[in-house]
Amino acid sequence: MLFADVIVDISVKSLDRPFQYRIPEELEEEAVVGAMVEIPFGKGNRAMKGYIIERSTVPNYDVAKIKSITAVVKQGVVAESHLLSLAYWMKRQYGGTMNDAIKAVMPVRREIKEKEHRQVFPAIEQEEMLQLREELQQKHQMARVRVVDALLSAVPFSGGMEYGALCSKCKVTAQVLRAMEQKNILTIDAKRQYRNPYEDHEDEDKIVQLNEEQRQAVDRICGDRQKGIADTYLLYGVTGSGKTEVYMQCIREIVDRGEQVIVLIPEIALTFQTVHRFHARFGDRVSVLHSKLSAGERYDQYTRAKRGEIDIMIGPRSALFTPFEKLGLIVIDEEHEQSYQSETMPKYHAREVARQRASMLGASLLLGSATPSMEAYYQVQQGNFHKLTLSKRAGGASLPQVEIVDLREELRQKNYSVFSRSLRQEIEERLARKEQTILFLNRRGYAGFVSCRECGEVVGCPHCAVSLKPHSRRGQVEYLRCHYCGYTVPMPQKCPSCGSKYIGTFGLGTQQVEQMVQKQFPGASVLRMDADTTGGKAGHDKILQQFAERQADILVGTQMIVKGHDFPGVTLVGILAADLSLNVGDYTAAERTYQLLAQAAGRAGRGQTPGKVVLQTYQPEHYSIVCAAEQDYDKFYKHELFMRQMLQYPPVSHILGVLVLSADCELAKEFAQELAGRMKGDEHLTVLGPAEAAIGKINDIYRYMIYGKCSDYAVLVQVKDKLEAYINDRGMQSKCTVQFAFDPAG
Ligand code: ADP
Ligand code: ZN
Ligand code: ZN
Repeated sequence: MLFADVIVDISVKSLDRPFQYRIPEELEEEAVVGAMVEIPFGKGNRAMKGYIIERSTVPNYDVAKIKSITAVVKQGVVAESHLLSLAYWMKRQYGGTMNDAIKAVMPVRREIKEKEHRQVFPAIEQEEMLQLREELQQKHQMARVRVVDALLSAVPFSGGMEYGALCSKCKVTAQVLRAMEQKNILTIDAKRQYRNPYEDHEDEDKIVQLNEEQRQAVDRICGDRQKGIADTYLLYGVTGSGKTEVYMQCIREIVDRGEQVIVLIPEIALTFQTVHRFHARFGDRVSVLHSKLSAGERYDQYTRAKRGEIDIMIGPRSALFTPFEKLGLIVIDEEHEQSYQSETMPKYHAREVARQRASMLGASLLLGSATPSMEAYYQVQQGNFHKLTLSKRAGGASLPQVEIVDLREELRQKNYSVFSRSLRQEIEERLARKEQTILFLNRRGYAGFVSCRECGEVVGCPHCAVSLKPHSRRGQVEYLRCHYCGYTVPMPQKCPSCGSKYIGTFGLGTQQVEQMVQKQFPGASVLRMDADTTGGKAGHDKILQQFAERQADILVGTQMIVKGHDFPGVTLVGILAADLSLNVGDYTAAERTYQLLAQAAGRAGRGQTPGKVVLQTYQPEHYSIVCAAEQDYDKFYKHELFMRQMLQYPPVSHILGVLVLSADCELAKEFAQELAGRMKGDEHLTVLGPAEAAIGKINDIYRYMIYGKCSDYAVLVQVKDKLEAYINDRGMQSKCTVQFAFDPAG
């Protein structure tokens, strides 16, 4: 008798364990590990769905009491068993239920009927086909003979046959048809079958000769693989140094070995430009998964991967779970990007999960960035990742010259405009020379802090080295609060540092900047791009395209314009308020600022003319600004690591965030205190809080936050498990919700 351990498809902590069911004989073949099944659940035997995570022949209790699986869901996609193991690892590592984790590793769970059918056409004349039949028969290639027969029987001959019907009629696999296609016996019209959004683009590949550093990087990665070594590599290369070229050459070698590759790209950088580059190089063997695809399109891409019809999958975070059978390499481009962090349960980081998946399958992992995350660089220092460096821009372009402008000085000179004198002059020169300018507005941290316009002082927490968040009532800032420890002060009337009364929140939008540009430079044509510009992703692509074709002189935008695009005509980048992001009130603020500035600066001077960057700031002496201006990552890293060490922040130490939610404010507060008390009993842990969370109340649910810090991640996992058990024992699940997050940024 066969039994299955089933995870019920409902994300409730109390049901977060496998339930045993019997597999009826007639379902033995289909009810495999990873399959979606229908089960009678609970006292009322309500029909529910679930996933089989294990099969066994041993009943856990009285066989007579074990219910049977009702059915295997027909349209359900079966998860690879190693993806289920990965899901289990994720649940342990990040909290949440097994069901959450299964959902994460199975971005596509249901078959969506294909819209149109793919057709197989003969590529040779009828007579040739008859001749071929003879030859194939002599060689005893019977599968091919069956295909030829089927095609010969088609009426009319030139009309071919539907792909699926052909496969099932001839009992042949995709490989047979593909081989015949390669021999020019038949053609498969894949376009109509797979709703590929990039189908109609003619891409031209640009073949480049790798430079010495690029060559070394490729040789190291592929050489290791030849030797059977699957390592993790950090490709650290300045913007425009040819990292993508390194990825593509590695991919070429890996694919030629018969292995498959996943390429993760931040959603924001998933532009036509990037995809086309891969498409031009690898043609139909590459596919794209992204959030704008329809369910049917996603299903198609997923199935193609599973069937081995493609070798390369490009996509954002969730593409990490592409069901390739022979995964040889995972590439994570711009590994420092925040979009690799999942916001929903399980709150995983793609870099870490990629590492786990790669090690489970013996695949290599290649991370690339011009501004590596503290986490990745720390791993390099610890000897866990191997660093490969590209120190100069490919094609000989030089890094831009950066000028720091002190906005406090501008104010003293009675310049109240958003453009410093220097920036205005540079823009005018560009307009005269018909070169392009990007004006970058740092929207991160926008209006989220209080600062002094005269001396640049930002009001911060005396205990946590983060800025205090303003809390307003009726449009007035009433008090400031630290979201780590709860420290609170009334809104100061004067700058605590210089006594100036020009103190307040900072506010400036791209639309305002656009208007100011038009007023200040009436002859210039301006484009604007931010999250609000209409048209979504397609609209953004269009704006970037127009700018790349030099249809405008100036592009005003937010972080969105710093990624992915190459504008050879841009020789000036103006960064309007570089320090805004320093004050978002979380421990990654300096890192994010460095990254944004270095990436923005990297947009200048990609072509033949050298570029210039004007970086305007109220805090010109802050190390993240100084280091970004010097493009000196190592210097930044050393300084930042020191800060993280001092304050016990990741990657040196780890944080467990415990969020207590309840409609009853007092209850939330008290229970948070109770949990914090238990955490404080653990000698390995430094406990902060409870404090009101960053957003203290959402939809009338009150939110309290506790942070525990410890250098050992495993200890935090244990603390979480213990707290969970305690919450259950106290019977608090019905009154409070408690959520856990590991290493949360802010
Ligand atoms: P990154 O990904 O590091 O920003 P890319 O791979 O996009 O850099 O390369 C930047 C530009 O330099 C691209 O236009 C690319 O075609 C070109 N390039 C890359 N490698 C070389 C090379 N070895 N020789 C000449 N041009 C190159
Ligand atoms: Zn001041
Ligand atoms: Zn604090």
